[in-house]
Amino acid sequence: MDHFLYHNGTLHAEDVAIPDIAEAVGTPFYVYSTATLTRHYQLFAEALSPLPHLVCFAIKSLSNVAVLKTLGNLGAGMDVVSGGEYLRAKAAGVPGDRIVFSGVGKTRDEMRLALTGGIRQFNVESEPEMRALSEVAVSLGVTAPITIRVNPDVDARTHEKIATGKKENKFGIPIARASEVYAEAARLPGLQVIGIDVHIGSQLTELEPFEQAYLKVADLTRRLRSEGHTITRLDLGGGLGIPYERSNSAPPLPTDYGALIKRTVGDLGCEIEIEPGRLISGNAGILVSKVIYVKNGEGRDFMILDAAMNDLVRPSMYGAHHDIIPVAEPPVATPTQEFDVVGPVCETGDTFAKGRDLPLVAEGDLVAFRSAGAYGAVMASEYNTRPLIPEVLVHGDHFAVIRARPSFDEILNRDTIPSWL
Ligand SMILES: *Cc1c(COP(=O)(O)O)cnc(C)c1O
Repeated sequence: MDHFLYHNGTLHAEDVAIPDIAEAVGTPFYVYSTATLTRHYQLFAEALSPLPHLVCFAIKSLSNVAVLKTLGNLGAGMDVVSGGEYLRAKAAGVPGDRIVFSGVGKTRDEMRLALTGGIRQFNVESEPEMRALSEVAVSLGVTAPITIRVNPDVDARTHEKIATGKKENKFGIPIARASEVYAEAARLPGLQVIGIDVHIGSQLTELEPFEQAYLKVADLTRRLRSEGHTITRLDLGGGLGIPYERSNSAPPLPTDYGALIKRTVGDLGCEIEIEPGRLISGNAGILVSKVIYVKNGEGRDFMILDAAMNDLVRPSMYGAHHDIIPVAEPPVATPTQEFDVVGPVCETGDTFAKGRDLPLVAEGDLVAFRSAGAYGAVMASEYNTRPLIPEVLVHGDHFAVIRARPSFDEILNRDTIPSWL
């Protein structure tokens, strides 16, 4: 459920009419709903209660500081995967003891940044990383709390580019080698082993793979404890999927996911962390675009939009589906027509949908891509020198621009001419 609905024939974000935002900021733009972000965060928090827990929002899905502050104010923790994301969390006012640091290639500079600024834990992904973190912590005279990310070798049954829990993926250490790696971690100075981390992939539409992974984590917890380690925290990752196609999908709900967590690891006396990204941010955002031309081709018709693959790359990168709806609600029984929906970028890959049945639109009409809050704005680029598009946050009946569109001057001034030219 989200807060992008038609009222009086016009699509609204909460109580704000989308055309009013378009008027103020121009198209295309992203718009996010505070009420949806809040509700999704709370669903997870409630699903894990009464277990001691922290819901750490995966910043990489949607990293605008205003969004982070919205969630941080509710008590959310943050899952960061780079020094830049760590600084975003801090800029949003989230204290270090609510920030977990994930990622397979943390640099020593990033480790120093987090150790000096404050960190809840590092989710360590390899032995070389563990040794580097030990050295950095010792050099700073501090102790780094760590979990070790284990790779449980389960098939998440999702898109291959976002599956992370099979043994051929680059993530974590093989669960079969955990005893050995934890033993080394316990010997290294500057590290304090506190738990186990696992994250098997993104956009999972069934609970079964989570169940397999968490049962393995429960076994591992008992084994590591019997080997003398103190395991007090389990980080169970993110990855719960969302319904991109309203008409034919119903992924599991956070409540079912919470029940699964309680069933598999709830009796271990551990504090539980989860790292949802997409399920909090995905349906909390839409991308609004204007129809530039409707072009009749041979055997197919093209709807050419002012948004392109550089603004929303998921369709061309993952073959992802986004529902596309007109901002002006089509009257009942409006005729539809099949369109290829495309952007202006000079690549055939710049296609949002092929042969999509859509209500007739005219030049200048607004359309919205649903479920564009996650992995939308954060993956945007300025390919074709198309400025990064604005992000807008709605709260009840008002809205604010939370990232403005850069001017062409700002873009051109980032390039510098060497002295010999
Ligand atoms: C990407 C990622 C997440 C978030 O995944 P979602 O599918 O957006 O919930 C969480 N944890 C880690 C380590 C990740 O890499």
